[in-house]
Formats: sequence, C-alpha cells, structure tokens
Amino acid sequence: MKVLTANPTGLCFGVRRAIEALERALEERGRVYSIGSPIHNPQEVERLEARGLVVVDDLDEVPPGAPLFVRAHGIAPTLLDEALRKCGEVIDGTCPFVRKAQERARDLSAEGYPVVIVGDGEHPEVRGILGFVKGFALVVPGDHDPSLSRLSRFAKVGVLSQTTQKMEVFSSVAKALVGIVPEVRVYNTICSATLERQRAVCELASMVDGILVIGGRNSANTRKLVQIAQEAGASVLWIEHPDELDLGWLRGRGSIGLAAGGSTPDWLIRELIERLEKL
Ligand code: SF4
Repeated sequence: MKVLTANPTGLCFGVRRAIEALERALEERGRVYSIGSPIHNPQEVERLEARGLVVVDDLDEVPPGAPLFVRAHGIAPTLLDEALRKCGEVIDGTCPFVRKAQERARDLSAEGYPVVIVGDGEHPEVRGILGFVKGFALVVPGDHDPSLSRLSRFAKVGVLSQTTQKMEVFSSVAKALVGIVPEVRVYNTICSATLERQRAVCELASMVDGILVIGGRNSANTRKLVQIAQEAGASVLWIEHPDELDLGWLRGRGSIGLAAGGSTPDWLIRELIERLEKL
C-alpha cells in the first residue's frame, strides 16, 4: 500500500510556537496552569501534564502567584487583565493569526460596526474574539443561520472569521450579508496555515483510494480536514491515535493519503507512519 502524506500537514505555526513557549515555561517554573486544554490533542496534553502542566476550567482554580499559560486560541481581554492581576506570570501563547482576528473585531466595534463572526460560538477562540467586541456581535456557523436576518436593522456590518473556518463557508456568509445590509466590511481572518492544509487534503483526496486523518476529536481544524476530504468524495478514516487504525478500512486500498490536524504533534504522526510501514 502506497502512503502519500499531505503537504503541508500536522502542527501549524501557531500551535508549534505555543507548545515551545509552554515547554520553556515548564522547564523554568516546573508547574504551569492553563485554563482549558492548551492544545486540542489529548495525547500531547498528557505528555505536557507529565512535565508539570495543570489544566483547569477557570481562573478561580489557579493559585495566586502561579504562572498561567494562555493557549494559541487566546482569551478575552477582561480575563487577561484579571489573570495579570492574579498570576505571578502570564505566558501568552496566543497565535498571531488569532491576535489579528481579535484586533479586527476590536477595531470594527470601535468604529461602530456590529460584528459578525463566522464560526463556532462554543469554541474558545471565538469566545475570546467576542470579548474584544464592545457593541453588537453575532456568531453564525454558516449562511443558512436564521439569525442573520436580525442584521437587517443595521446600516453597516463587519464580518470576520474563526481562523480555522472553511473559505466557502466564510464567503457564503459574506455574500449573504451583502443582500441584507447596505455596507459590509469583510475581513478574511482565516489563517494561511489552515488554508494550506485544507488545500493539500483536497488535492490529495482525488489522487488516492482513501484519506486517513489523525487528530484530536476536539480539534476544529482536524474536523474541517475530514469534512473537506469527504466533500471531495474520499472515503475517510479519522483516528486520534495510531492504536485506532482500522485494518478493515485499509484492506484493499492500493494507496491512501495521510493528513494530520494542525494540533497533531510530530511524534504521533511518526508513530502512525511507522505502523503503516509495517503493514
Ligand atoms: S490554526 Fe492558524 S490560527 Fe490556529 S494556531 Fe494554527 S496557525 Fe494559529
């Protein structure tokens, strides 16, 4: 069986940068707190926990004076201010692409634009971006969302995207808004790492007999890779760990494509390739 790996795939710039910052902090401080999982990959979180990372749900659970790590998804400015007051040190791992989206949201609302964010309202990145909006904000997952009609009372609106959004979904919302509001300011804040990985898996899908995706089940960008491969007509197997390899799915496939989410660590991808080579 031939295995073709999508290029690029795996750890994106922002997550790699965040992991490196966190590892440095763990080395220096021994114990570092994170509100929520710092990386949407349970195996990588387990590895970091073994080195001293403590994942909590809330700032209240962080002891005063203890170091806090802000993950690549970023946090709302009010929470950051609170953290700066309470924690001995705040290690900010916010990805620069997420920072850009936060700044766009802040600037749009400062200029009086209601802000539409195309994304998942439950995702920590989107919750963080929302914290930068002073006025009206609406999160929509796509152009079919009925709440878009609520915007007809506004004369202008600004729209931006969760960084891992699919371009088609973002464009369709921007297009729908043009039919609802007279002035629409559009900022494409989908990150280039996401776009490159989505393009790579889409290209690969037409060249192989199936796509194997490895990545956390809680990883938004991994989920998007799976959707894109399926929409391109590929049979897709999504696993979180090489132990989940389904030999039945692999049987009879002359070639498969391998893709990994932007939060899948290199060591897990290597382990998976080694397993595939032994088959
Ligand atoms: S997916 Fe993009 S925005 Fe998110 S951490 Fe990676 S590089 Fe940054």
